[in-house]
Amino acid sequence: MHLRSSQDLEVEAAGAAEAINMSSHIEAIGPLPGDDSRERKLPAGQDGLIRLERVHKTYRLGDIEVHALRGVSLQIGRGEFVAIMGPSGSGKSTMMNIIGCLDRPTKGQYLLEGIDVSTVDKPGLADIRNKKVGFVFQSFNLVPRTSALENVELPMIYAGVGSSERKRRARAALNEVGLSNREQSMPNQLSGGQQQRVALARALVNNPSLILADEPTGALDTRTSVEVMEIFQRLNRERNLTVIVVTHEPDIAQYAKRIIQFRDGRIHRDFAVESRKDATQVLAELPPEGDDEDQS
Ligand code: ADP
Ligand code: MG
Repeated sequence: MHLRSSQDLEVEAAGAAEAINMSSHIEAIGPLPGDDSRERKLPAGQDGLIRLERVHKTYRLGDIEVHALRGVSLQIGRGEFVAIMGPSGSGKSTMMNIIGCLDRPTKGQYLLEGIDVSTVDKPGLADIRNKKVGFVFQSFNLVPRTSALENVELPMIYAGVGSSERKRRARAALNEVGLSNREQSMPNQLSGGQQQRVALARALVNNPSLILADEPTGALDTRTSVEVMEIFQRLNRERNLTVIVVTHEPDIAQYAKRIIQFRDGRIHRDFAVESRKDATQVLAELPPEGDDEDQS
């Protein structure tokens, strides 16, 4: 049974809204931004950033139980770049939602940096998410009629960062994705590729340990897709940022270091990419194309 298209989009939109709307939780949980003492303890000798142990997720639709995940065990270390593949309905987004602390397993254990997330309550999840995870979605999920700069500032507003620091960090993040000249542009004045880069900058500003991207190039043309992958590869290389990308495009998966294939709620294959593609090199070889810029 597949929930696709509009329903998928709704889930994504809700996820994004949740992911960036932490304001109501911040007061409730107490620890201020920067106080991450609680999360710092990693068991000795364990550098696994992500660890799933026999994770199940069951959705209930009236009388019907949908087994979205059927016992997934998985470890992902810091600095990995993983592509998640598999047919529609195989559990990819469900797993991303669990890894991103948008949802919890029905059964099994999930540890993020050594913290057992399966037992954390909702405000606690929001807190972890805000500090550790940056989300990127197929549909960009920018706030309309709000400038690129303000969109990038949003997660910092929820994290309680002061105005001038916010502006400084938002500008730096936009610069990092090559959009310094579009700070004041509204989303509808930007091309798809530019909107996705704003979304990437927004995902980066709280300095997450982990970037989760669910079909980030699904709505983009070839060149723009490679440009987005170039940014992921650069962040992964230069900042040792862990990147997990869901994609159904085999070409896109070749930019990752490791591919995990899902089938029917289980891991079907998990393997290293042998001849990994370098986005910078691919871009240099693609014919130049001017019409995806500035379609305002
Ligand atoms: P994928 O991302 O690989 O396409 P999903 O993780 O979105 O797969 O979905 C896995 C299964 O769980 C599908 O059968 C889907 O219909 C079902 N599912 C996903 N989200 C929900 C939900 N919120 N309620 C009920 N069923 C869901
Ligand atoms: Mg999905």
